[in-house]
Amino acid sequence: MSELKNLPSVDRLLSEPALQSPIAEHGRSVVTDFARAELAFTREAVKGGAALPATSELLAGIQRRVAAHMRPRLQPVFNLTGTVLHTNLGRAVLPESVVEAIARAARAPCALEYDLETGGRGDRDDLVEGLLRELTGAEAATVVNNNAAAVFLLLNTLAQKKEVVVSRGELVEIGGAFRVPDIMRRAGAKLVEVGTTNRTHLRDFDETLGPKTGLVMKVHTSNYAVHGFTAAVPEAELAQLAHARGVPFVVDLGSGTLVNLEQWGLPHEPTPRDSIDAGADLVTFSGDKLLGGPQAGLLVGRRELIAKIKKNPLKRALRVGKLTLAALEATLALYRDSERLPQRLEALRLLTRPEAEIRAQAERLLPAWQAASANWRLDAAIEPTLSQIGSGSLPVDRLPSVALVARPRGKRAGVLHQLEEALRRLPVPVIGHIADDALRLDLRCLPPDLEIEFAAQLSALSGLGA
Ligand SMILES: *Cc1c(COP(=O)(O)O)cnc(C)c1O
Repeated sequence: MSELKNLPSVDRLLSEPALQSPIAEHGRSVVTDFARAELAFTREAVKGGAALPATSELLAGIQRRVAAHMRPRLQPVFNLTGTVLHTNLGRAVLPESVVEAIARAARAPCALEYDLETGGRGDRDDLVEGLLRELTGAEAATVVNNNAAAVFLLLNTLAQKKEVVVSRGELVEIGGAFRVPDIMRRAGAKLVEVGTTNRTHLRDFDETLGPKTGLVMKVHTSNYAVHGFTAAVPEAELAQLAHARGVPFVVDLGSGTLVNLEQWGLPHEPTPRDSIDAGADLVTFSGDKLLGGPQAGLLVGRRELIAKIKKNPLKRALRVGKLTLAALEATLALYRDSERLPQRLEALRLLTRPEAEIRAQAERLLPAWQAASANWRLDAAIEPTLSQIGSGSLPVDRLPSVALVARPRGKRAGVLHQLEEALRRLPVPVIGHIADDALRLDLRCLPPDLEIEFAAQLSALSGLGA
C-alpha cells in the first residue's frame, strides 16, 4: 500500500514527453482530466493487490483514454453487409463532386436565400427547383428534411380534417417508425382504406370518394411485394377519377429514381416523371435512396399545390440547410448527363459494379482473409452472393456479387460472432453479415482505392484470434 506514494503526480505525468503531442492536439485540460482518471484507476487497482505500473504504462493508459474520448462518434466504416443503400450506415455514399459542393457551401458565405440579380431576398428552393422541373416534368418543386417529412407536410397542408383514400394493400411500414396510418393521424388527416390487401379496384375508390375526401393517395409498396392474385389501380385511372371528383391525386414514391434503371440491367423502378405523366398532382420521394444524394424529401407537382405547401408554417420547421441544398444541386446536376451517370454517381456505380470486377478484388484479398481467419480456426473462401439495393427499394431483386466468407470448422457458431465483433473493433470498423452459419463480407461496396487499407486491417486481425 505504501507503494502508492511512488505513483507519479499529475504534474509529473503532464511534463513527460509522451504527453506533449496529446496536449498540443487536444488541450491541457482534457489530458489533465484523463491523467487524473488513470491515476485514480491505478490507485484502486494497487489497493486491490495489483503491482505498481511503470510510468510508461501509465502514460500509455492516459493516451488510450484521450484517444478513445476524442475520437468522433460518427465513424466511417466499411459497409460489407451486402446492402448498398443501408439506412443504418447512412444510405447513399456521395460522389466526390458532391462532397466538394458541400465543402464549398460550408467554407464561405453563399447566396442561399439571396437573389444575385436583384439584390433582394431569394427562396432557397429556387436553387434546385429548375433542375427538379427539368428532370421530372413537374411544374414546381420544394425540398424538406426527408421523405417522411414530405409526406407529412403534404397531408397536413392538403388533407387536415379531411379523408385520404388509400388502397389497403399500400398501408406500408418503412423500417423504423414510418407507418402510413401513423403519419396520417399526426398530420390531422383521416385515413380511409379501400379494397383488400391483395386486390383493389377502381370501383372501390369510386364508391368511397365523397364530400369529405381531401386526397386520393398512392403509396409505392417499396419494401415488399404482393404476388399471386393481385390487382392495383393504375395511376392514370386513379388520377382521372380523383380529378372528376375535384380532389388531387398524390403519389408517395419512396425511392424514386429519376432515370430508367433497366438500361443498366437493374430492375424497373417507377420514376416521378411516370407519375406526373399519368396525371399525379404531387409526387414525393427521398434524396438519399436510389437518387444517390443527401438525406432530403422532394415534393414535385402542380404549381398551386406546391405554393400552398410552401405557405404551411411547418415548412419552415422541416426545411433543409445549405449543406443539403449544395449536395442536392450537385447530385441532380449529374442526371443531366445520364449516359455517364454510372461512372459519376457513386450509388449507381456500386449498384452496377460488374461481378467480374468484384471477384477480381476478392481474389486479391483472399490470402489476407485466409491469414486472418486461420487464427480463428475458420475456413476462408470466396463465394458468390447476392447484394440487395436496400432502403426499401426493389426488395425482391438481388444483384450477383462476390463475398469473402468464413465458416467455422465443426459446431462453433459462437466464433463467428467473435470474429464479427473483432471486425467491428478495427480502426475502420468492418460491418459484415452472418447467415446460414457463415460470416460474409460482400465486396460490392469496398472502394478500390481503400483496398490496401482494408487488407492491412485484416493482417492486424490475424494477430488476434480465438
Ligand atoms: C423510404 C420511404 C419513406 C420514408 O422516406 P425517408 O426519406 O426515409 O424519410 C416514405 N415512403 C416510402 C414509400 C418509402 O419507401
